[in-house]
Amino acid sequence: MIDNVIHDVKEPYLLTPGPLTTSHATKAAMMRDWGSWDEDFNQVTASIRAQLLAMAEAPSDEYACVPMQGSGTFAVESALACATDPNDKVLVLMNGAYGKRAAQLLDMMGRRYVTLDKGDYLPPQPKEVAALLRQDSEITTVFLVHCETSSGILNPLESIAEVVRAHGKTLIVDAMSSFGGVPISVVQTPIDVLISSANKCIEGVPGFGFVIIRQTLLAAGKGRAHSLSLDLHAQWDYMERTGQWRFTPPTHSVVAFQAALAQHREEGGVAGRCARYTRNRDALVKGMQALGFSTLLDDEWLSPIITTFLSPSDPAFEFGVFYATLKARGFLIYPGKLTEVESFRIGCIGQLGITVIAQLLSAIQEALTEMGVSLLANLSAHSGSA
Ligand SMILES: *Cc1c(COP(=O)(O)O)cnc(C)c1O
Repeated sequence: MIDNVIHDVKEPYLLTPGPLTTSHATKAAMMRDWGSWDEDFNQVTASIRAQLLAMAEAPSDEYACVPMQGSGTFAVESALACATDPNDKVLVLMNGAYGKRAAQLLDMMGRRYVTLDKGDYLPPQPKEVAALLRQDSEITTVFLVHCETSSGILNPLESIAEVVRAHGKTLIVDAMSSFGGVPISVVQTPIDVLISSANKCIEGVPGFGFVIIRQTLLAAGKGRAHSLSLDLHAQWDYMERTGQWRFTPPTHSVVAFQAALAQHREEGGVAGRCARYTRNRDALVKGMQALGFSTLLDDEWLSPIITTFLSPSDPAFEFGVFYATLKARGFLIYPGKLTEVESFRIGCIGQLGITVIAQLLSAIQEALTEMGVSLLANLSAHSGSA
């Protein structure tokens, strides 16, 4: 079905982790202007908040959903400012750019933290987290990135959440690039704060993020924020009292998101979306391996969101040329974000299916031929390995 979406405007497919390729219905929802204080718009906001709580299976008497204007980082910043105070100490689990960014945010707001830095792509292990929590009783809070988009790794959320709960600590999860595309249930997995945004797996357009947060934590966060505009408690309080966003909302993005949520439901919710993304990922990885590429990660850590491929060692391969050749054929891919090795990333999310992946694979083959890159050496070296 998705593969039959007709792009009547010639625009490239975004094989990126967001902003991503959105449907016509989502784009069309933006062709109207809305009063930010009007009851019609307030209803959209209320409906989105309720749907997001339901998607997280978060009981509405224990959790609140608070949308926040801006990109995903704005939501992370507002959540950290609300859910931690200067007496807390946060254990930041890092294996990529987004874990690093959380530490940087805590720095800027004067919160104490320690890190477990696993480098570019190794997962934090529940045992290591347990050992750190035993060693340092001052730690109050653990921060985990669910899918670390810099490598595409899906970190072991469930097992780490169990460890955090066993120690009676608070768990904050950056589920930016996984929520809506990978099942996450707040009732099954003890998560206190969950953060995501409009333009990832729910396939809306950029403009806001949202925080699903335990109401007791939200109440404790009153007056803690270091920032006027990123005060999550104040945003929630105002929304509860008036139904409105505290400052100008991204109205078009919000109504587009409402349309995107309806399509998410029609596709079978998180399970349906996860199945499509997994098919995309499997077709992509299989096709790329057949061309001689290898993935950075072992199969067990591959997320259905985005995959990192190692750049071929053949000196004829040049990412800039590769990128431009694919762009000319209608596909935008993503540069790598690793510190050690040359790589690039290809996303599996957005309004696309395996037909588009097959077209992309042909374009990649053509690009390699054009550059004169031979991957046969790679292929024999990696055959059989994950
Ligand atoms: C996209 C993303 C963010 C937010 O990035 P923005 O550029 O601020 O939208 C945060 N964490 C993860 C894991 C992400 O994938």
